[in-house]
Amino acid sequence: MPEPARDTIFALSSGRPPAAIGVVRISGPRAGDALKAMTGKLPCPRAAELVRVRDAASSDVIDQALAVWFPAPHSETGEDVAELQLHGGRAVIAATLASLGRIQGLRPAEAGEFTRRAFENGKLDLTAVEGLADLVMAETEGQRRQALRQLQGALGKRGEGWRQRLIEALALVEARIDFSEEAEVLGSSLVPALAIAREVEGEIAAALADGGRGERLREGLIVAIAGPPNAGKSTLLNRIARREVAIVSPYAGTTRDVIEVHLDLDGWPVTLLDTAGIRETDDPVEMEGVRRAQARAETADLVLWVVDARETGQNRAKSAGKAGNGPPKWLIHNKTDLVEGKTKRNESEITNKAKNENGSISVKNRLRETNESEVNKDDRGFKISAVTGEGFDVLLGCLAAHAEAFLGGGEPTVVTRQRHRYALEECLAALKRAQSREVMKHEDLLAIELRIAANALGRLIGRVDVEDILDVIFRDFCIGK
Ligand code: GDP
Repeated sequence: MPEPARDTIFALSSGRPPAAIGVVRISGPRAGDALKAMTGKLPCPRAAELVRVRDAASSDVIDQALAVWFPAPHSETGEDVAELQLHGGRAVIAATLASLGRIQGLRPAEAGEFTRRAFENGKLDLTAVEGLADLVMAETEGQRRQALRQLQGALGKRGEGWRQRLIEALALVEARIDFSEEAEVLGSSLVPALAIAREVEGEIAAALADGGRGERLREGLIVAIAGPPNAGKSTLLNRIARREVAIVSPYAGTTRDVIEVHLDLDGWPVTLLDTAGIRETDDPVEMEGVRRAQARAETADLVLWVVDARETGQNRAKSAGKAGNGPPKWLIHNKTDLVEGKTKRNESEITNKAKNENGSISVKNRLRETNESEVNKDDRGFKISAVTGEGFDVLLGCLAAHAEAFLGGGEPTVVTRQRHRYALEECLAALKRAQSREVMKHEDLLAIELRIAANALGRLIGRVDVEDILDVIFRDFCIGK
């Protein structure tokens, strides 16, 4: 039998064993042969069938499983695909994979190879591939919704629509170049071509004017907890995260690096950074911590500047009130339990309500139970005690509201990666040049700019010239995807 042009690949596509079920996928021209060799038959297409899985060489029964057969092109990769739903024990999976590896023409899949084949066979465009990667990685509802929109073509379809219109405009300009002697074509073709360029430019500019929300939603809102040593930053972080993530110590300057905690606040991803105590120091290790802390705090979307509520107002204002273009700062007066005349709250009351069943911190409910007058909304100051939990509900409620306004405000955005932004900006720049006086007068220059614009969109969706970026994109996938 002649060797098929492509390898047939296989991998465990479900999570790491042991598990109740382990799904092994096989894709490529020999997928049907492999399924027959191991189960003795080819089930009806797209219907699950109970089979005995045997080692192809020795005929030893490995497991009892469900087999599904997806003949090309109606499969996820666009090739013949076979799927075995086995018991997810380590030995079962190992024996199945070993047996598949012994069948001629089959080899283990590389990371992302199934999805890469789907892309190469036109099943997914590049933005959908990215959406799929994001969907697998999504940690919060906001991220999941955005990833699914991308997988379903939110940007891909728009990008292809823009590209088609620009190709149409290009055809009009090229018609004029080819038939420039003919008066009829001369008068009519450039105006509609430029009108298309203008329209597409407006739509792309609108898509880009999203404040970077899509990219931010993938990464989460970055909130830096900063302030002088011993103010209670680590204690605050621990309380929010409900786990021991930072060293809490009564001695100044013990948190020497930047610690990240990923939170789900009412479905919005928030990354909290605990920065080392920012202060003047001669200790080189501590100095490095302070440098990193400052650099990180400067790139944050929001800074929680924690101070000891017992300290003088002058000192606090100097540290927190640094005017300029940096991120907004909320002043957190911590240790209110140590301020004389304060009433203490029952800590367990807050602890018990901290998380709902799915692990997401449900802030809105907690906020309702809290006295909102504690917040001074004008200067975004908060009075809390990281030890007793006092003031926590209000702070978390405001954080969730801030994250929602920052990440979820307005229409869902279609730009979710830097790569998208670069491609659209490149397209936009070419469309602007196309409409400049000098270019407009020369059909050939106009055609060049329109082609650059259309190509930028082609790269966005993976139609042209993308070999160099494919490896970067598929690197993020796991084996079996
Ligand atoms: P950091 O250097 O800003 O990270 O400060 P830590 O979180 O390490 O806290 C320094 C000390 O202050 C520790 O002994 C904490 O237990 C204590 N501390 C932190 N927050 C509070 C608070 O709200 N009330 C009281 N009484 N002590 C606190």
